[in-house]
Amino acid sequence: MRTRTQVGIVGAGPSGLLLSHLLHLQGVASVIVENRSRDYVEHRVRAGVLEQAAVDLLKEAGVGERMVREGLVHNGIELRFGGRGHRIDFPSLTGGRAITVYGQQEVVKDLIAARLAAGGEIVFEAADVGVHGIDTDTPLIRYRKDGSEHEVSCAIVAGCDGFHGVCRQAIPDHAQHVFERTYPFAWLGILAQAAPSHEELIYAYHDRGFALFSMRSPEITRLYLQVAPDEDIADWPDERIWQELHTRLETDDGWRLNEGPVLEKGITPMRSFVCEKMQHGRLFLAGDAAHIVPPTGAKGMNLAVADIHVLTRALTAFFKSGRGDLLATYDATCLKRVWRAEHFSWWMTSMLHRFPDDDGFQQRLQRSQLDYTVGSRAAAASLAENYVGLPFA
Ligand SMILES: Cc1cc2nc3c(=O)[nH]c(=O)nc-3n(C[C@H](O)[C@H](O)[C@H](O)COP(=O)(O)OP(=O)(O)OC[C@H]3O[C@@H](n4cnc5c(N)ncnc54)[C@H](O)[C@@H]3O)c2cc1C
Repeated sequence: MRTRTQVGIVGAGPSGLLLSHLLHLQGVASVIVENRSRDYVEHRVRAGVLEQAAVDLLKEAGVGERMVREGLVHNGIELRFGGRGHRIDFPSLTGGRAITVYGQQEVVKDLIAARLAAGGEIVFEAADVGVHGIDTDTPLIRYRKDGSEHEVSCAIVAGCDGFHGVCRQAIPDHAQHVFERTYPFAWLGILAQAAPSHEELIYAYHDRGFALFSMRSPEITRLYLQVAPDEDIADWPDERIWQELHTRLETDDGWRLNEGPVLEKGITPMRSFVCEKMQHGRLFLAGDAAHIVPPTGAKGMNLAVADIHVLTRALTAFFKSGRGDLLATYDATCLKRVWRAEHFSWWMTSMLHRFPDDDGFQQRLQRSQLDYTVGSRAAAASLAENYVGLPFA
């Protein structure tokens, strides 16, 4: 069975769904092919911090109504070390900008609802998805569903299928330049049915390792602990997780962490990764398919939104005015912002985590950097400006 469209999109994560929605607003047709079920993608708990520009874009695109109602606007974060908290105030340091805490799975739900309401086509549970003919003007996405073979024939393929997807692999090795760092630690994350005991995110630097306090709603707390990269989640019963969180997060002046039933837990590796070819022939990569950041800077989903902003503009010019210039410069435009976010995420990660082979040298540098960041308006402003996010290209 063959479907014809203008843009064939692989992946119904934030990148693929947002691209399909924004293209629809511009009158460009697309079909999304996703290998998981709708229920699975709508309940996959991942990122939760939206930069100001991402919030503005979702609002302008008409998919921000629930985010505005249910999202939590945060005007700062706290850096916590030496038993004390130090607040970084975003609006006063960035000319009035802030972030919004709203779960990635909620963004995904809103975008799926908008696409389906507008008659958009999303194929869920597609098996053996592959992209073909990207060096020609008529590329294809092939997949199997319900026992039959399907093809989406299009003019452009958008690879929005995340880090483990198939699209990046379609770019020949000789055309890719990959940069990668893995870190000697991972994050153990939990979602707990507990009222947040603080209004803003807390990034805690502690002798026993990093911890992050965050939230998803007035009833749900999201918490992370630095652990070893090969840590087995089975070795972390809930009591051990809570004990470690209390130790790393609590302060000398009596701040205490609320506990509650653990709804979900998992371990995420920490990686920096950039594929410096985000386009090849008629294939364009966006979001995690092209780059990964360690989550310390809360940049993953925001980078995906920024790529899609650039790609939508380029595809609209291509389909509506026959202009290929913005497509030709797509990856150069995105990579400037990608590398800024890569640097910020690496910097935050390096400042806040304990390195296993450290003889004390790195620890002293970290304390010096933390003291400087909270003691100097210029240093605090640099963190704040990157955290709330630089303007989209
Ligand atoms: C476990 C985890 C925790 C994270 N936590 C944070 C965080 O706390 N903060 C933060 O900022 N960022 C976090 N991130 C990163 C953030 O979630 C991503 O940057 C964001 O999801 C990128 O969106 P995307 O649409 O590009 O990719 P994804 O969200 O990965 O979407 C890709 C989609 O493609 C689908 N797909 C994959 N392969 C195929 C295929 N072969 N065929 C068809 N479809 C396919 C997938 O099922 C998925 O729906 C986390 C990521 C992970 C993996």
